[in-house]
Amino acid sequence: MSDDAVLEVEGLVKHYRANSRLPRRNGPVRAVDGVDLRIAAGEVLGLVGESGSGKSTVGRCVARLINPTAGTVRLLGKDISTLGRRELRPLRRDVHVVFQDAYSSLNPRLSIGAIVAEPLRQHGDGDRAGRRRRAGEMLERVGLGAHLVSRYPHELSGGQRQRVALARALVTGPRLVIADEPVSALDVSVQASILNLLLDLRQDMGFSCLFITHDLSVVEFISDRIAVMYLGRIVETASRQELFRNPQHPYTQALLSAAPVPDPTNARAAQRVVLSGDLPSQSARARGCSFHPRCPVAEDRCRTETPALTAVTAEDHLVSCHLVTADHGGPDISGGRSGLVHHAP
Ligand code: SF4
Repeated sequence: MSDDAVLEVEGLVKHYRANSRLPRRNGPVRAVDGVDLRIAAGEVLGLVGESGSGKSTVGRCVARLINPTAGTVRLLGKDISTLGRRELRPLRRDVHVVFQDAYSSLNPRLSIGAIVAEPLRQHGDGDRAGRRRRAGEMLERVGLGAHLVSRYPHELSGGQRQRVALARALVTGPRLVIADEPVSALDVSVQASILNLLLDLRQDMGFSCLFITHDLSVVEFISDRIAVMYLGRIVETASRQELFRNPQHPYTQALLSAAPVPDPTNARAAQRVVLSGDLPSQSARARGCSFHPRCPVAEDRCRTETPALTAVTAEDHLVSCHLVTADHGGPDISGGRSGLVHHAP
């Protein structure tokens, strides 16, 4: 994997105006509130967080399906955050999105061949026969027979439709694929085959991937690096091995402790931690560290000072928590502190 950055995101912000029927004390909905990300060539970055954490909004801003409120999105070194529709068009061949619901993202009136060839048509690549041939080749690469070119989406299974969505995303040879919960709606056995296919294609074609999911087992399987998101911000980022071996942020520790493990007698399952309360509203963000209302080890300054994302134990391990320092590492919230509920396996 090269160190060349395919994607660099700095200070990304996406706010929405609050519903006018809501009480006045609610400010704007801060879906994304200052996110920095970097993805190297050929790298898979897993972006993980609870529903409502803002991870899908990051993906949509990066793909410029929606306009960021502020911040910079650099794709292959070019700032695309303020480009207009026409200026974005040539860049669309370099970044594609795969959505969770393949059925609604595939035009039911187009044949599979026409769906996969559509990005080539939009970019004026080749003639009709050439586009059909490349669509057939791409279908073969994602494990579907080229004979499916004349079928329609409703004739395929969920797993086959997601393979078609992958073929459509990859047919122009993009440098970045944004996969937004691409296997969440599939059976577990089908999930594994799609994830393996994505990794094989990444190996063959060399694209980078922003993989968005709420599922820790999926993110552990697919990612080279992982960024953990909470309430519109990245709270921890590290290599996959480092994050799962040495989680530092209290939120990451709680997430990992709640993930199912194959062996219920192992240490992670024995130290399950349940956070109190739900994810707060994005329009009623607490001052200071946004995690403090649920954090079992919060201190006074956590209520007033926002922690920065800073390097800790490893060079590429960044954590946003006042209690995590390069010298001492982070708090161990599974150690029986107040505010936690421990569940025996
Ligand atoms: Fe908890 Fe404070 Fe760290 Fe936030 S900064 S995670 S509230 S200890």
